[in-house]
Amino acid sequence: METKRVEEYERGEEEEEDEEQMEEWDDWQSEEEEESSSRCLCLFCGSRFGSAEILFDHCRSEHSFDFHHVVRELGLDFYGSFKLINYVRSQVAENKCWCCGLTLQCSRDLQNHLHPASNFEKDGKFFWEDDLYLKPYMVDDPLLHSFAGDEDEEEDPPAVDAEMMSELMTSEELPKLCNDGQSMINGDSPMSDIFKETGNAEASLDSMDKISQGMVTNGMILDRKQKDKQLRLSLANVDARKIKNVNEKYFGSYGSFGIHREMLSDKVRTDAYRGALLNNPSLINGATVLDVGCGTGILSLFAAQGGASKVISVEASSKMAAVATQIARDNGLLSEDSMKGEEQHPGIINVVQCMVEELDKYIYIPPNSVDVLVSEWMGYCLLYESMLSSVLYARDRWLKPDGAILPDTATLFAAGFGRGGTSIPFWENVYGFNMSCISKEVMEDASCVPIVDAIDSRDIMTESEVIHSFDLATMKIDEMDFTAIFELKLRTDPANKATSRTCPCYGIVLWFDTDFTNRFCKEMPTILSTSPYTPRTHWSQTILTFREPITMTSSDAFVSSTAAVGTEESPAVRIRSRISIARSSEHRSIDISLEISSISSDDRKHSWPVQIFSL
Ligand code: SAH
Repeated sequence: METKRVEEYERGEEEEEDEEQMEEWDDWQSEEEEESSSRCLCLFCGSRFGSAEILFDHCRSEHSFDFHHVVRELGLDFYGSFKLINYVRSQVAENKCWCCGLTLQCSRDLQNHLHPASNFEKDGKFFWEDDLYLKPYMVDDPLLHSFAGDEDEEEDPPAVDAEMMSELMTSEELPKLCNDGQSMINGDSPMSDIFKETGNAEASLDSMDKISQGMVTNGMILDRKQKDKQLRLSLANVDARKIKNVNEKYFGSYGSFGIHREMLSDKVRTDAYRGALLNNPSLINGATVLDVGCGTGILSLFAAQGGASKVISVEASSKMAAVATQIARDNGLLSEDSMKGEEQHPGIINVVQCMVEELDKYIYIPPNSVDVLVSEWMGYCLLYESMLSSVLYARDRWLKPDGAILPDTATLFAAGFGRGGTSIPFWENVYGFNMSCISKEVMEDASCVPIVDAIDSRDIMTESEVIHSFDLATMKIDEMDFTAIFELKLRTDPANKATSRTCPCYGIVLWFDTDFTNRFCKEMPTILSTSPYTPRTHWSQTILTFREPITMTSSDAFVSSTAAVGTEESPAVRIRSRISIARSSEHRSIDISLEISSISSDDRKHSWPVQIFSL
């Protein structure tokens, strides 16, 4: 049947299908729906084809759309062509002509209207320039996998393998990658990243030239814009590969039980979730709950225990998904078994092994149908290795508009710490020996790399300040990156309230709280705090060490000194800090930039060069 239809198309006989053929087509569709869905749907009509080439022939002869001509004429690279396909599909869906923009009454009118294109640009940009067209317009569009055929391999930029392609197709980071690429080209980021693929960490002008020459000798005279596109493509390829590797390592690491034991043994953490799920019956009773990243399934089990009627537990690590399934089964809560009638208990938990971003491929959950979304997504310093973007993705897709997200807020705090928060005291006295020579180097390292460790609250020497709050019910993914300005003042010594004191501040410590507020947890709101003032959690705190200590005083007395503010002669009354936390180009990592100024009682200021910490 398939062969016959292809031959028909090749003869150009496909458009006048009589009813019999349509029936055949319907039969064929229903009988072999799966196969059909892997065939490429025409960009303009309902015909499907076994290959991109035949489809493009059909588009050229029937719809005046010559894909290869456009690609050649405009020198489109892989992503340019990819975007073109998505753009055309998006226009056709609105009965709009892809090249002149005219909106027609119906699809038939549009097909009659289609004409050879003479214009492809608006305001100097291709119509499909926007990176939003990197998102496949049609879910699982086979054309996007197959349009870059072998014959183009020599001319085209590096091919993207099928596995990578499917990563890209589902990666919501793709547009971001390309934006990143653009900013690199504009010189905002080191160019070296582009060359890492070839193992060439240091990008030199020389290699830039070689790349440009390579592009010219491809037979196309590429203008700067096109070169930029090629670079973006290489960059996206490199980054996609890196993302894949990082994801593999990340999910792989969750396949070891040690990490789950550590999380489960963290009573502060686990009890906070348990409290929220068990002590808020008006929220959980009868609810449909989505557990994003279920691990052992502990939160799903709590939700089931708390009265949820259905729990969908998503886990990307195949090992942990299998374990969570077994645990739910062993505790009589697995829905699959109950459906098979193997269990006495009503099955509640349904474990799905996949990244939540791909959940649609495995199970149908009606959009906006989930009552409660629960996830333990927090990483060190809240955002490191964080899966927050995955949680927000799930929120936007499946949570009811008035649904609950647990926890629903997250707040980052900062405070200054004293000498006791550094490793200096340790090296001063090691079994009675002075090893202080080591601390100089250790402190230098600490001024670039954040230290995740517990800090004793007695070593906190300033008041604590909120540096940023996230409302998880409303925030957007982009808001994960932020900049905050705050000021730190010495805190009064509880033992010695009256006397002023002067002491050096060695850096800033960060921690976070996540709250299960009474917005959703009406009966019993809960706070999960990782503060140095509350019992320790496995997140500890994140310590950012200054390059040199800043002497601070609690006295407002005027100091007449020309010495730099922050020294013993001229102590600071306040430290002003500007901190930016942003997802790094290294997938799942974060970069923290810290700018510090010390301010004296007479408002003089001394600033230090920015410090960049990579976590
Ligand atoms: N909920 C469990 C585990 C939390 S750790 C508990 O509270 O103990 C986070 C888990 O989320 C890990 O097992 C990790 O593999 C999984 N995960 C992270 N990102 C994910 C994603 N995008 N889709 C599905 N699972 C994810």
